[in-house]
Amino acid sequence: MHRFLYRRLLLATALCAAPFAAFAHSDGHSLSENALVQPAEVVDCTLENGDAAKCNAYTVKFIPDGLDIGPFCPATLDDVGGVWDWDGEKAGLYRIDRAYLEMLAGLGYQFYDDDGAVNVFDIRVEGPEADHECIAGTLETAADMSIRALIPITPVMAASPTPLGTVAKVGMALDGVPIFADAPSVLDTGHMPALDTCGGHVDPGGWYHWHATSTDINTVFSAEDVDATCAHVLQDETAQFGYAFDGFAMFGSVEGDSAAPVGLDACGGHVGPLPDGSGEAYHYHSSDSFPNLPTCLVGVVAQDNFSTTAAQGIGSTSGLGGPGGPGGGRPDFSAAAAALGIDVTALQMAIEAEGGREADLAHVAARLGISLDALQAAMPPRP
Ligand SMILES: [Zn+2]
Ligand SMILES: [Zn+2]
Repeated sequence: MHRFLYRRLLLATALCAAPFAAFAHSDGHSLSENALVQPAEVVDCTLENGDAAKCNAYTVKFIPDGLDIGPFCPATLDDVGGVWDWDGEKAGLYRIDRAYLEMLAGLGYQFYDDDGAVNVFDIRVEGPEADHECIAGTLETAADMSIRALIPITPVMAASPTPLGTVAKVGMALDGVPIFADAPSVLDTGHMPALDTCGGHVDPGGWYHWHATSTDINTVFSAEDVDATCAHVLQDETAQFGYAFDGFAMFGSVEGDSAAPVGLDACGGHVGPLPDGSGEAYHYHSSDSFPNLPTCLVGVVAQDNFSTTAAQGIGSTSGLGGPGGPGGGRPDFSAAAAALGIDVTALQMAIEAEGGREADLAHVAARLGISLDALQAAMPPRP
């Protein structure tokens, strides 16, 4: 019954959008009012390829009104937390419970003490004390905290797809929650940024975001045999989940008639009939394996397409290591990231995780799995 009503709602949304467009595009109706700080607006923007374009600008809250989140880290071995996509030996998607944590301990990653209390730290306000801790984040509840995202209205195909590396920006969900690619690996940081069973968690900036297609994540739990259920996000494997930052729509794992999508490209998209029946266009589909998101973007994204008013974290303007940051503004690591062939956000995260402007570049290089020489050669000079 719920699913039926939800599809009716989606249909209504489609009907009030533009009549027919060659590409599925974001429009003023497309993100939930529960998340928007102000109505969506159309603004001039510049695409990464230098083209002038029109973008929808969305200003959203640190979490949409009414969205339940968690649990993330279990307090003890007898409690059950969220999920984690472990990429070491015995790799797979796991429920964070006693069996999983004891398995990790056997692999040299012990996240609990002798009494069975799980090591947890709140990444927004403190650092870890032990070698291996489960990361929990608390929400920034300041009323003026907001996130601004820019999404091209008319998508433009890129010359070649852009891979989505660790914490790369994927898109915006229709519920107004940002979507990112893989969270940082335990193998890189030693710590586990636990996700809840709908695939989200809190950034160091205090805002909630997705690391999966949350409206179709139960399909993944079923396919990967994980004892978890996303209870607070309505599941619909045909529904649109959001818009990628290149402007193309992202849908669940099947078409509107429940048939499997055919002819998907390497990113997980294809040109075909939209599941809501509104026409034919390029769109992405989620998969049944975690993270069930596009693995690359075929289109061109807008420059400076993600910023927050948060004091820290992805997209913050206060610099990476503290107020002002190097040179009094946000240092531009785009050129360095491009020279190194890595995602700029992954570079920023690695620098931030190693102490921001005081970061030891040897540690940053080790975290990214690149040589110190290459990193030093690519980095902008320090002030
Ligand atoms: Zn994250
Ligand atoms: Zn399709």
